[in-house]
Amino acid sequence: MSTVELHNFIQDLETQTLNTPTFGKVSRDELTLDLDTFLDSRRIKDVSVNGLQVSGRPTIAHIVVGVTANKALIDAAVEAKADALIVHHGVFWKGDDPRMVGYHRERINALLAANINLYAYHLPLDVHAEVGNNACMGRRLALIPKRVVGESGLVMLGELSVSAPVRSTVLAAYVARHYGRRVTLYSKPERLIKTIAWCTGAGGSLLGEAIDAGADAFITGEISEQHVHQARESNITLIGAGHHSTERDGVAALASRLVQKFGLTYQFIDINSPL
Ligand SMILES: [Zn+2]
Repeated sequence: MSTVELHNFIQDLETQTLNTPTFGKVSRDELTLDLDTFLDSRRIKDVSVNGLQVSGRPTIAHIVVGVTANKALIDAAVEAKADALIVHHGVFWKGDDPRMVGYHRERINALLAANINLYAYHLPLDVHAEVGNNACMGRRLALIPKRVVGESGLVMLGELSVSAPVRSTVLAAYVARHYGRRVTLYSKPERLIKTIAWCTGAGGSLLGEAIDAGADAFITGEISEQHVHQARESNITLIGAGHHSTERDGVAALASRLVQKFGLTYQFIDINSPL
């Protein structure tokens, strides 16, 4: 082959590669790199083992997303013929009993049998500025974010997007309306709210960071008994809008990005939880 022929050969090959219809699917390795990079998951310390938790088929076109990789969600992903399942709460957590027994075995077994990839992103999907659960809560409630407060890096501080303060009961009804569920409210009914701190999921333990930041109210997902007293004695309004319900938006936002970037198709499957 002469030099000119080789040049043409390379050009032809490049043209063919460019014309190959790859939009609509992505390799597992490329998706893993993209998600880990986009969510900066290697840098963020977490009790979750973030990233690809269970490896499945090498090419991904259809994804299912949901909050928790419980057996019902895995079964639904199998039924939906998903190539990958992306969740906020995965199946591997640091410090957990590593034995493949009981419900843990059944979850892994179902994933392996269907050759589905399982990706889990916990804190990286809480704090991401664009698709994070906290950012999504801010958008859903039309809160104006100001800054991240506290040592955890998980609590946002901002304001309601109305000029006058609102009563705590009005705020609770507003949050309930926007999450489509009953919320728990611990507050003096007439407490006026302007500045708001928020953290999705099990954020009750971070109430102290909201108090230290001077917030009038703290909106989170799940609250424990001691947080009620802590809130009362600190004159801060505390609203629990559900661990599960406040963590649905992040995975859906992440999936929308994958649709735009790689042309994948996705389904959000909601396996409800009362908490
Ligand atoms: Zn959570």
